Amino acid sequence: MTFDNSLDARTLALDSAHVFHSWSAQGALSPLVIAGGLGSRVWDHAGTTYLDFSSQLVNVNIGHQHPAVVAAITEQAGLLSTIGPATANLTRGEAARRIVEHAPDGFEKVFFTNGGADANENAIRLARLHTGRDKIVSTYRSYHGNTGAAIVSTGDWRRIPNEYARGHVHVFGPYFYRSEFWATTPEQESERALHHLERVIQAEGPGSIAGVLLETIPGTAGVLVPPPGYLAGVRAICDTYGIVLILDEVMAGFGRTGRWFAFDGYDVTPDLITFAKGVNSGYVPVGGVIISDAIAKQFDDQVFPGGLTYSGHPLAAASIVGALDAMAAEGVVDNAARIGRDLLAPALTELAEKHAVIGDVRGEGVFWALELVADAETREPLPAAQMAALKKTMLQAGLLPFVQDNRIHVVPPCVVTDDEVAEAIDIYDRALSSLD
Ligand code: PLP
Repeated sequence: MTFDNSLDARTLALDSAHVFHSWSAQGALSPLVIAGGLGSRVWDHAGTTYLDFSSQLVNVNIGHQHPAVVAAITEQAGLLSTIGPATANLTRGEAARRIVEHAPDGFEKVFFTNGGADANENAIRLARLHTGRDKIVSTYRSYHGNTGAAIVSTGDWRRIPNEYARGHVHVFGPYFYRSEFWATTPEQESERALHHLERVIQAEGPGSIAGVLLETIPGTAGVLVPPPGYLAGVRAICDTYGIVLILDEVMAGFGRTGRWFAFDGYDVTPDLITFAKGVNSGYVPVGGVIISDAIAKQFDDQVFPGGLTYSGHPLAAASIVGALDAMAAEGVVDNAARIGRDLLAPALTELAEKHAVIGDVRGEGVFWALELVADAETREPLPAAQMAALKKTMLQAGLLPFVQDNRIHVVPPCVVTDDEVAEAIDIYDRALSSLD
């Protein structure tokens, strides 16, 4: 790699003049310049390197610039760079086959979208068409994407200025550390969250509810690992009332938890699975819905009223084939499981014992959150100014962190090495010490 200092300034000037950024007031932004990357590291034009413990938006599961994925995209670009969705294309079929190979029995079809939001959008559409019902139940602590129904299914603040879709109902999901249910054990949290869900469904009228849409492990909301029995209980409630269960695996899927799908670790099979991010680590924008046979067969005769110009785009399909084959061949998902079990779980627990500011540690695989509190007793979240200072310290030490509200999400690529984990833990440790 060759470095050129002047390009960082030019990048920032162009960005500030012409690029309109997501979820931000545009006036006072100072984005990090990233010019290149490899594996778990990224760098700017001047050669300043960062250990990427954010995986960007928790999507670069296979790491940056994996040669097999780059080669698959390049080869497909030389062969056929684009083709309409109504055609049959070999690479698209190979991508779909690889995706369903990782799904439970009874899932054979994939509807491809451009990303995670429109995956949820189309899953909601399928649930409504399948049931002939209208309402979608989702949780307040969730993010499902930035389009019509997906953003209104979302629970966090981003829903509120965008509430133009109809038929959405929200509930509180389980979150033992900040229980809405006065629970004193995870089992009680699970039981009471299920009772709350069922009562809301009954009060809304079960016959009006098409789907329950949940992130298997709510990610942006804080890596909220579900307590024992919760997801199986949701499945049972959906079965009782004839409701479609949609599990959003956009962030949790394809290796992040140390499993191909996060729900593989729980006693639950959904009716629809949405995916994006980890399926190809975001090298080309793509997402989709994996459709259970029971729902897919309805559309053997009935027209599915949905589509996208780029559904099953050949470059996206090639990147999926390249990524999933390399992940399988190189044991990338097993690496994520091992890193979580043998390195991150003990190291993050040790950090929590050392730093009183860490109120809670939760996660699995390469999907963890450290929840930071100003007071261990009251659990008052660490103020934004201190979180910002912490972020700055970590960046200066060469770590690109994922900081969300009062939490550090520890979310490196699934290919992260033991040495890189040790390096990151040392930086977290020193940054947390700087707060004392
Ligand atoms: N669902 C979940 C769980 C997500 O984390 C995200 C993005 O962060 C989305 C959906 C939306 O995906 P996209 O940004 O690709 O539309």
